[in-house]
Order: sequence, then structure tokens, then C-alpha cells
Amino acid sequence: MSALVLVLNAGSSSLKYQLLDADSGTVSASGVVERIGEPDAKAVARHTVSGEATTRDVDAPDHHAAMRVVLDAFATDGPPLRPQDLYAVGHRVVHGGDLFRSPAIVDDAVIDAIEDLVPLAPLHNPGNLAGIRAARAAFPTTPQVAVFDTAFHQTLPPHAFTYAVPREWRERHRVRRYGFHGTSHAYVSRRLATLLGRDVSETNVVVLHLGNGASAAAVAGGACIDTSMGLSPLEGLVMGTRPGDLDPALPSHLAREGVPIEDYDRALNAGSGLRGLTGTNDFREVERLVEAGDPDAALALDIVTYRIAKYVGSYAVALGRLDGIAFTAGIGEHSPRLRAEVLARLGMLGIRVDPDRNSGGPAERVVTSDDSAVPAWVVPTNEELEIARQTLAVLR
Ligand code: ADP
Repeated sequence: MSALVLVLNAGSSSLKYQLLDADSGTVSASGVVERIGEPDAKAVARHTVSGEATTRDVDAPDHHAAMRVVLDAFATDGPPLRPQDLYAVGHRVVHGGDLFRSPAIVDDAVIDAIEDLVPLAPLHNPGNLAGIRAARAAFPTTPQVAVFDTAFHQTLPPHAFTYAVPREWRERHRVRRYGFHGTSHAYVSRRLATLLGRDVSETNVVVLHLGNGASAAAVAGGACIDTSMGLSPLEGLVMGTRPGDLDPALPSHLAREGVPIEDYDRALNAGSGLRGLTGTNDFREVERLVEAGDPDAALALDIVTYRIAKYVGSYAVALGRLDGIAFTAGIGEHSPRLRAEVLARLGMLGIRVDPDRNSGGPAERVVTSDDSAVPAWVVPTNEELEIARQTLAVLR
């Protein structure tokens, strides 16, 4: 039996997919349907086979229709996607709360549980669920597996996941640190141990997932012991459009100033971080502005790199011994400048960047010098492969 897995990442208005062999990692097709259910615009579908992309305007009023668009793309542009060839469908699900420590084979009870967690991830779980329902309808006899962004962080000890807030909030409203990007942190931390030539169970690393969303994780012997995102993906590092850590007094202060809660939510999810500081959330643009002498962009870069370095320092303390640091995701993989500035702030840990090794694109490599007390690496993430592997593992 092949290990062919269709990986789906369904958002509120998008459906991303990748068809890949979970054993070899070979991707046979990938694509995305965007603007699902938008009243004023046609949805757009892009399907890529062997590096060749086909883009079409399509009708996709909901995720079921989007799923049909995906099946049509496979039928028209290939490769053939026959249910009998498919081992499973693997779904990215953002919030598994404290209910899911590992991937789950989807049944009605799992769907109910994901539904029950919607209040904790109102922007994400509903889209994920729509994708699961559409895929179950399209592939009724194929096993479906939910892989949770939070699951890898369920090993956090209570002192790392508990907020010092009233018991009622913690018990009744499920307020605690959950953490996100777990699939990426799991993949990259394991990969880094392999690259370091060490057994995962004896390796302590910090993973810096720096994309539009950004988070850090401290991983000891393969188990996550702390992470920077919390109850929601807003906490921690400064991100593309989110602020990261803030004073908890901010909402009540702004409420007294007359700022409505909806504006507050929108500003913290979409108008803060790099965008709030510079006007753009595109890190390439921020780098261009810094080059051009823009003071806001220079300050933003300082804030971002200072915050990351503070987390690495605190996680070095939490881990007790630091064997390696991994930079991953869009900014972590592509920006030598970001890496150099973060590593320069970590000199007291004996870390030394090597400018030649650090220059250039997203290839897997060490970027510190041989005399650096801790090696830092670029480790490109591969969340789809990790979802496919976890999907296969739970079924086998
Ligand atoms: P997402 O969280 O949306 O998956 P990505 O991991 O794709 O995000 O990262 C997106 C970020 O990576 C953007 O800020 C983008 O500007 C940045 N990025 C992509 N390529 C480069 C590059 N060559 N140099 C600097 N930043 C880059």
C-alpha cells in the first residue's frame, strides 16, 4: 500500500492542499483555493504539478465547493487522485486544547471536540472544521486524521503553561498557555538533532519559527518544555501583524479610553507587530526601509530581534543546557540580516555568527562559526510532510 496522503490546511476563506508520499516526502501536486465564500469576488484556484502552476477563477461559495474545485483540478491537470490510491487525508487543525496530545483519527466525537474548542480559536477552528467536513464528504471511505498545532506543546510542565490568574478563569474558561506552530516545532527540532548528529532524546534546542506568525519553542530531549505563544497566537514574539507580549492592563486601559473591543481585537490581530510599527508586515519591505534609512523600520528591527534574543536567553535557562538553535519559516529561513542581529545579541551565551555561512538563501546549514559555544542552523520547515508522517503513524 502506498503512503499517499492528501494534506489539507483549511482556513476561513482558503483551502491549501498537498498530495505527497509520507514515506519518501515526494510531492506530486499542491495548490490552494482562495477567497472561498467571498460575496464580492470570484474564488481563485492554483494547482501546481511538477513546478507548473495553473490558475483559474472558480465558483467556491463554501468549502464543499472548494473541495470539488480541488478534485476537478486533479482530474484536469493530474495527477489522478483516486480514493483507492489514497492512504489518508491529514488535516491541519489549529486548536486541540488540552484534549489532544497527539493526532486523532477523525470521527463524530473528534469533530464535536474540535467544535467545542471553537471559543479558544474562533478565527481558526471553524475553517479547519469546514475542511474536514468537505473532505469527509469527498472521500467517505478514506481515513481522515486531525493533526493539531497545539499537540506538541502538551508536554509543557504546569509551571510553564499556567497563567497566574484566578482559579475560575483557569478552570471554567480554560485559560492557560497552549502554544501553536507545534507541527513545525516538532519537525524542525527533530531535524536539528539529526543535523547535529545527536540522539533526539539527549538534545536540547530552541526553535525559532519566524514567519508572518512567529513563535519560539524550548525542546528538551524531544519534548517541548516552553513556547512563546499562549492561550492564543498573539502572545510572545513580535509578528507580522500581531504584537506579541503586552501588559495585560492594555484592554481595560483602552476600554476606558473608549476603544471598542472589536477594534481592539482587529488591531491586535491585523494592525500590530511589523505592520503597526512600520506600515507593512512584509519583512522584505521592512529590510528595504531599513536600508533606506527609515527610523521606524530600524526601530522595528531592533524590537523584533531584541524580543527574540530575550526568549532564547530565557529558554537557555529553562533548558539548563543549549545544544542548538534553529531558524525556520519565511523570515528565519530567508533573512541573513535577522539571523545575524539576533545572534549578535546572544554573545553572552558564547554564540558567534559566521557571516559567510549566514549569507544566502533557505538551504539547511550551520550559520555560526566553529568556535561558537552553541551552533545555530537554518532548518527549513515542512509542516505538510510532518502532518503526512503523523497521519500515517497514527493509522499504521
Ligand atoms: P506564514 O506565517 O504566512 O506562513 P511565512 O513563513 O511564509 O509566513 O513567512 C512570511 C514572511 O517571510 C514575510 O514577512 C516575508 O516578508 C518573509 N520573507 C519571505 N522571503 C523573504 C526574504 N527573501 N527575505 C526576508 N524576508 C522574507
